Amino acid sequence: MSAAAAASGRIVVVGSLNADLTIYCERLPQPGETVQGHGFAVNPGGKSANQAVAAARLGGHVSLVGAVGEDANGNMLEASVAGAGVDVSHVRTSSEPTGVAVIAVDAHGENNIIISAGANGTLSPADVAGAADVLEGAAVVSLCLEVSMETVLAAAQAGHDAGATVLLNLSPYAEIPAALAGLADVLLVNAHEAALFLGAEVPGSGASAEEWDAVRERFADHGVQQVLVTLGSQGSVVLDSLVSHGARVIRVHPTTVGAVDTTGAGDAFTGAVAVRLAAGDALADAAAFASVAAALATTRKGTQAAYPEAADVERRLS
Ligand code: ATP
Repeated sequence: MSAAAAASGRIVVVGSLNADLTIYCERLPQPGETVQGHGFAVNPGGKSANQAVAAARLGGHVSLVGAVGEDANGNMLEASVAGAGVDVSHVRTSSEPTGVAVIAVDAHGENNIIISAGANGTLSPADVAGAADVLEGAAVVSLCLEVSMETVLAAAQAGHDAGATVLLNLSPYAEIPAALAGLADVLLVNAHEAALFLGAEVPGSGASAEEWDAVRERFADHGVQQVLVTLGSQGSVVLDSLVSHGARVIRVHPTTVGAVDTTGAGDAFTGAVAVRLAAGDALADAAAFASVAAALATTRKGTQAAYPEAADVERRLS
């Protein structure tokens, strides 16, 4: 653990754990059709579990609040998350099966995904209340939309009340209540989610600072002052309406790597942002660090197992 991370505050991730059941095939089946697969893998996943693992591997002090079934997938997920150093004392078991994502991937890397929330669907505001011991001391509370909106709202409120930075990843996209937008200190979106949230086109990666500044203003009109827009292999953009002296739009250029698997890059990015915000970094510095961490995550196959450690990122930054 680096000195900066050791000095940082706790990150509490509230949300989902899923077993990713992936089958590889030449082409994806049409409705009613059966195709032959050529390989199958069961891997730990779920956006929140991924984000928690990404943050812990980077030296963050992380607690995960979630639910799994009393089944082999639940055991596998808990072992993966705990093995990365995440505190799982608030991951409870449910009579529902562990959440699964059934993923078909074709020869071109195109995929179809069906998610069954299972135990994730049972996570409730009562679980948030039950995690008061970790939430009260949190520096960052990290949330996504793979659990119920009322649970996300309760966690955002608890984080806000504790004085934590509330980081909200609007994925998978859903409309959120205005109260939740108001509680989110930092919104993390890809360009598609940004456009859905704003109900308007968002410029492409080649857009000018002025065009991004117009996007920043639109987010501010929705009560969101700090936004990170990720642009895949094109990097990301920081939109920070809280900056009074200096640039409110900062383009973070991509870190050039030989990407082999971009699955879960967004979660690696979110976990890395959480680590640096918990250590006291400004948003733009956190985004620059996360850009390297997420790029490195794409250089290995898989999600949780592919996430880099702090030393890997620091080596690349030096
Ligand atoms: P996913 O849902 O697949 O995890 P996402 O849409 O949430 O992805 P992206 O915008 O695809 O997130 O990626 C997040 C960040 O990861 C990017 O902002 C960038 O910093 C990094 N990244 C992704 N793909 C690449 C790549 N090919 N090369 C370098 N960096 C990448």
